[in-house]
Amino acid sequence: MGIIEKISGPLVVADGMLGTRMYDVVKVGNLGLIGEIIQLKGDKAVLQVYEDTTGISPGEPVQSTNTPLTAELGPGVLGNVYDGIQRPLEVIRAKTGAFIGRGITADALDKKKKWKFTAENAVKNGAEVKPGEIIGYVQETEHLKHYIMVPNGIEGKISGLKSGTFTVEETIAKVEKGSKSTALTLAQRRPVRRSSPFKRKFRSDEPLVTGQRVLDTFFPVAKGGNAAVPGPFGAGKTVIQQQIAKFADADIVVYVGCGERGNEMTDVLAEFPELIDPKTKRPLMERTVLVANTSNMPVAAREASIYTGITIAEYFRDMGYSVAIMADSTSRWAEAMREISARLEEMPGEEGYPAYLPKRLAEYYERSGKVESLNGRMGSVTIIGAVSPAGGDLSEPVSQGTLRVVKAFWSLDKALADSRHFPSVNWLSSYSLYLDALDGWYAKNMGEDFVRNRQAAMKLLQREAELKDIVQLVGADALPDSEKIVLEIGKMIREAFLRQNAYDEIDTYTSLKKQGIMLGAILHFKARAEEALSEQIEADKITQMKVREEISRLKEVKEAEIEGEEKKVREKIDGEFKALLKEYQAAVEEEKGEVEKA
Ligand code: ADP
Ligand code: MG
Repeated sequence: MGIIEKISGPLVVADGMLGTRMYDVVKVGNLGLIGEIIQLKGDKAVLQVYEDTTGISPGEPVQSTNTPLTAELGPGVLGNVYDGIQRPLEVIRAKTGAFIGRGITADALDKKKKWKFTAENAVKNGAEVKPGEIIGYVQETEHLKHYIMVPNGIEGKISGLKSGTFTVEETIAKVEKGSKSTALTLAQRRPVRRSSPFKRKFRSDEPLVTGQRVLDTFFPVAKGGNAAVPGPFGAGKTVIQQQIAKFADADIVVYVGCGERGNEMTDVLAEFPELIDPKTKRPLMERTVLVANTSNMPVAAREASIYTGITIAEYFRDMGYSVAIMADSTSRWAEAMREISARLEEMPGEEGYPAYLPKRLAEYYERSGKVESLNGRMGSVTIIGAVSPAGGDLSEPVSQGTLRVVKAFWSLDKALADSRHFPSVNWLSSYSLYLDALDGWYAKNMGEDFVRNRQAAMKLLQREAELKDIVQLVGADALPDSEKIVLEIGKMIREAFLRQNAYDEIDTYTSLKKQGIMLGAILHFKARAEEALSEQIEADKITQMKVREEISRLKEVKEAEIEGEEKKVREKIDGEFKALLKEYQAAVEEEKGEVEKA
C-alpha cells in the first residue's frame, strides 16, 4: 500500500509503491478513486486518476489492485451505456443522482441476471480447448447469439460443460491444465490497452454500407477498415457519426462519445433507445453499446473510454461479427494526452502534444481489421474517428497523425456547411483508398454500371471544379455548350445526389440500390444531353428542362417505390428530349420555309 504525496489535477504522485506494475489499476485516497499507474520511478508512482481529484489530500492511502485496466465482457454488454471505465451510467445514477459520485464502483455486467446458456454440442467434456474456442452461446437478443469463448490465455481439458441458466458469475465449466484449474463463466475480462490476439488479418473486400450516399458511392470504408472525419466546429462530424451508428450494416455498433459537450451525448442517450434498426426492425440499442465520456468528466477517462470501446468491439469481432466503432472526438482524447504529458513534464513534441501521439493514434487505428479469430471465425472491426482541428486546419498534429494511418478520409468543409450543403464532405479533398479493393464487390453486387457511373460522376465533379475557376474569370457565357452541360450535371450531382438531409424521414437513409438508381438517372440525363448537343440543341435549352426537378425529387421517393419511379423519370427524360428535338426541327423547317419564300 502506498501513500499520496502530491496531487496535480488528474495526476497523483504516490510513495511506497515498490512492487507495483505499470498500468495496474489503483484505488486512490480514502474515497478509493479509480486510477492507473502511468509512471514508476523507484518506489514512487505517478497515477492518472479517472475521477475528479478535488478534496483528496497527501497522506491518504493508495491501493494497487495488481491488475491492468480491463473490460468486463459477456451477456449484458449490448444495449448498455457506460462511462469511460465501463461503469453503467444508469447504475451510477441510481446510486448517486445526476452528478456522478466519486469512488463509486458499479459492475459492468448485471451480476444477478440469469441467462439461458446453450452448450456447444461439438465440445465434449474431456476434450482439449484452446483460447477463443466457442463453447456455447446465449441468445442475447432475437437476432444475436452471444457466443461464449474460452478466455485468452486459458487452455486445457474441459469438464462440467452443460446447458443451463446462469448468472455471469456462476461456473459453466472448468478447464484443467496440469495442477491449474480455471472456472469458466459467461463473462471474461480483457486488458484494454492491448489488442486482442487473432489468427490472421485479411484484406477487406466488402464495404460498410452506411446509407449515406456520398460515403457509400464515392468514399466507402471497407468492413475492417478505418476512416477519419475531420472538420471544424459545426461541420457535421457528430451528425455523420450518428448517422453511421444508426444505419451502418454492421452487426454491432460501439459509439464512444469522447470529451465532446455533454448535451451532444445526452441527445444520443435520449434518441438511440427510441430508434428502430431498419434491418431487423428491432430496437437499435440491441446491437449498440454506448461509451460516454463527456467534456464535464475528468480528462484521464477519455483515454480509458477509447480503449474500453475498442476492446468491446474486438470481443464481438472474435465471435465472427462485423463491428463498427465510432469515436467523437479523437482530438479530445489527444488533448487529454497533452494535458497529462505536460503535468508529467515530458519533453513536448509538436504543439505541446507528447512525442508518442502519432504512435498512440496509429496503434488505435491498427486495431481495425478483418480477421480470422482464434476460433476460425471471420469478423471485422471498422474504426471511424472524428477529428476536430481548431479552425479546421489539417496541418495540426492530431490530423496529421491520423491522416498517416487511415485509409478513408471524409473531409468536412466549413464553406459547404455554411451553405447548408450536408453532409459537408468535400468531394474533391476526400478520398478512399479502399475503392480498388471494393470495386469487385460493387460490380458483383450492384452491377458494373455502379462502378462506371461513380467514376464518370467523380470525373465530372472534378471537371466542374476546374470550370468554375474559369467561370470566375470569364463568366459562364464564354463557355462552349459542352462545358455548360458539365456545369449543369455537376450541380445536379451535388444537389440531387450528394446533399442528403439527416433529418428527413426518407432522405436520412438511402440503400445502395437506390443510390445506384439516383446516380444512374442523372447520368442518363447527361447522355441524352450530349446527344441533344450533337443535334445542335443549345445548352441553355437543356439547362432549363423541367425534368431536372423530377430527378432531384428521387431522393424523396420511398425505397419500396424507387424502381417504378426510376422508370417514370427515365421515360420523362427521354420524352422531354424528344420534344426538344422536335421543337428544334420544326423551327429549322420554318426557317427554311421563310428563306425559300424570300
Ligand atoms: P460538429 O460535430 O462537426 O461540430 P454537428 O454534427 O453537430 O457538427 O453538426 C452541426 C449542425 O449541422 C447540426 O446540428 C445540423 O443542424 C447540421 N447538419 C450536419 N449534418 C447534417 C445532415 N447530414 N443533414 C442535415 N443537417 C446536418
Ligand atoms: Mg460534434
